[in-house]
Amino acid sequence: MMVDHSTRAHAICSASGAHRWLHCPPSALLETKFPDTTSEAAKEGTLAHEMCEAKLRNYFFTKEFSKRKLTNRLKKLSADPLYQKEMDGHTDAYTDFVKQAALCFEHQPSVLIEQKLDLSSIIPGGFGTADCILIGGNVLHVIDFKYGKGVPVEAEGNPQMLIYAWGAYYRYSLLYPIDTIRVSIVQPRLDIFSTSEYDLDTVRTFSDYVSHQAALAVKGEGEFKAGDWCRFCRARKTCRARAEENVKLAGFTERKPPLITNTEVGEYLRMGKDVARWLSDLEDYALTECLAGREVDGWKAVEGRSRRDWVDQEKAFAAIIATGMPKEMLYETSPLSLAKIEKLMGKKDFSATVGDLIEKSPGKPTLVQESDKRPAISNQVTAKEAFKKEN
Ligand code: SF4
Repeated sequence: MMVDHSTRAHAICSASGAHRWLHCPPSALLETKFPDTTSEAAKEGTLAHEMCEAKLRNYFFTKEFSKRKLTNRLKKLSADPLYQKEMDGHTDAYTDFVKQAALCFEHQPSVLIEQKLDLSSIIPGGFGTADCILIGGNVLHVIDFKYGKGVPVEAEGNPQMLIYAWGAYYRYSLLYPIDTIRVSIVQPRLDIFSTSEYDLDTVRTFSDYVSHQAALAVKGEGEFKAGDWCRFCRARKTCRARAEENVKLAGFTERKPPLITNTEVGEYLRMGKDVARWLSDLEDYALTECLAGREVDGWKAVEGRSRRDWVDQEKAFAAIIATGMPKEMLYETSPLSLAKIEKLMGKKDFSATVGDLIEKSPGKPTLVQESDKRPAISNQVTAKEAFKKEN
């Protein structure tokens, strides 16, 4: 049976948020005060996961999920407004990876797709869903598909994967003599196909640590600790620990409420402006030092993400057209911006020809300091506007 990916629930301590609550246990409970909104990117990810699931089911369970079923399913999924053509290639890359991983087993492994895992042995009330699990001989392999491309995710030391691995081991260790645990992350849009392998002792020790931190987290206990994990925390905008970590407030000792007030937000923004500038200067400096061969503790310079480009575009296009591809398919026609056309025509002609076909929409709300000359705006309806509407 296909899984409804959009209803994948999250426990207070979800495996996907483990990187955060393992470092900062009380964040788990604090987060529940904030709405859990689903971004467009997350919905896209759900759609891509559904495509992956269908492709894997067809490959491994062709009898139950025939080619016809696959075609129908993919047709339905590709009618979704979030579908993009590139999803086909990325989900193929994932399914190819899983097929290859299955071939690495001496005998055909057991294949579990979209397997719900009970994680309550280490996380109170915890559960999760593994995208794919392969088990054969003494090896358990958990594979996760990530469609996002904002943050690269690697398998090595990945707490979410280790938690899933523990959940799968806990469930299947009675049936299989598992002593080796492999975890993989496939993030095709960033070209990441990463695998890590662990012995059982390592996973067991990690599960003890998870169990300890989760017990604190569900009670809202432990220390608030800010770090790079804050960027995925729903409390990140008003979290006191994060604010204080960033502006390094001196002499803070007494216990204050966990969320900062709007007065403090204003103060931190003013102070933070300098912190941001200082950080940027520091980054420039550190990069220069690293490039000069000097050591900056914990940092190094690397090549940025590379970009593919034609060596000779004319030659390349000629070769593609020679294969039968129509020339028009290789070019896009898009309208010039209003400002560019005005520049082409000149202000006067432009205004006389299309002046009445232009509308000016209000700019995107921007945060500035009180000293700025522009009048303040808000989403609140003023008494004057409300009066106008009623009449
Ligand atoms: S934003 Fe605050 S509560 Fe959230 S992880 Fe960071 S320090 Fe913890």
